[in-house]
Amino acid sequence: MAEYKNKNCKYLVVMGCLVQRYYSDLLKELPEVDLFIKLDEYKNFWQKINDLVENKKVEISKHKNNIKISEVKKLPLPKMNDFFERVITTGDNYAYLKIGEGCSNKCTYCAIPYIRGPFVSRPMEEILEEAQILAEQGIKEIIIIAQDTTKYGVDLYGKSKLAELLQKLSKIEKIKWIRFLYSYPEGITDELIETVANNPKICKYFDIPIQHISNTILKKMNRQTSKENIEKIIKKIRDKIPYVTIRTSLIVGFPGESENQFKELYKFVEDTKFDKLGVFEYSREEGTPAAKLPEQIHHSTKRARRNKIMKLQQEVSNKLMKSKVGKIEEVLIEDEVYKNNKRYLIGRTSHDAPDIDGIVYINVKSDMDGNNLINTFIKCTITDYLNYDLIGKLT
Ligand code: SF4
Repeated sequence: MAEYKNKNCKYLVVMGCLVQRYYSDLLKELPEVDLFIKLDEYKNFWQKINDLVENKKVEISKHKNNIKISEVKKLPLPKMNDFFERVITTGDNYAYLKIGEGCSNKCTYCAIPYIRGPFVSRPMEEILEEAQILAEQGIKEIIIIAQDTTKYGVDLYGKSKLAELLQKLSKIEKIKWIRFLYSYPEGITDELIETVANNPKICKYFDIPIQHISNTILKKMNRQTSKENIEKIIKKIRDKIPYVTIRTSLIVGFPGESENQFKELYKFVEDTKFDKLGVFEYSREEGTPAAKLPEQIHHSTKRARRNKIMKLQQEVSNKLMKSKVGKIEEVLIEDEVYKNNKRYLIGRTSHDAPDIDGIVYINVKSDMDGNNLINTFIKCTITDYLNYDLIGKLT
């Protein structure tokens, strides 16, 4: 990004968890960064940017870059609360909507509870108001995020209110798709499954990072769930919502993970056939309980285990992608691209979250064809597939 700054823009601003935790180290190590903003400084975001600009006596240039980030939009500050002014960096169609901050789950490998503190929900009216503002800016898809979205409301209202929040968000007319990410398995209630099953605006998409399946490892990770419960929840979701997409993420090489425990995980992935799956090698995070555990696994073993599961998932994914050929999908068209002198529109189905999942390439005949389709929903027939992406044609 520093190289990018030198060629394309004037400032490099870094914000987020790492800044909060390692502020003084980063200050020394990254002189090319013009401004660091800690988590507790977000409310002064614009002030800090203004100070940066004024000190350097140059103006911020609004620029479009050549990646898929459209011009930054600055939204007006809602009247009734004090969350910082909203900046959309994700383009014209979708925006993330944060419903809580922090995490109280204390998984033993994770540093987030130490950096961001316990889970704190945002009041529902405040979230709905922000969603309304996003909708008025033309956003069509809202993506609900928090460290664990299923905990939404527990601290404020005494019980999880995620299902109720989703129902209320779906009443905002201009919002067409609602997706929620990062659901802790134990937090997926019957009410939540019913809400997803019955509300046409809520994407039939569950992102459930299970991390592992061996009960011994789950316990060492301090995950408040078990193999049996995870299996039960996945079955329940698939029974209720036949055309559902389930994504998960896993950690391999957690301290003490034996060959047999890894095999158990491998078998589970093989049997469950997740629609989407990511695997991470365990990383020893400073200050976490797991970092102090004995039997840390050698990095070559972690790498080999990760590769093994990724290879397996590639086969699972290929079969799933193949089964989509011939189906008609609703696609949100977001961009266009030229490949081998051919022009394609690029879009996503409701089964694909931006950045992490696949896209659909839609072949169009001429340079003018489909010009008016960008930022709209269309129906397309899937004609072929690549590793993780689909190819289609307009229907
Ligand atoms: S892994 Fe997720 S659920 Fe566990 S402590 Fe970290 S943020 Fe919370």
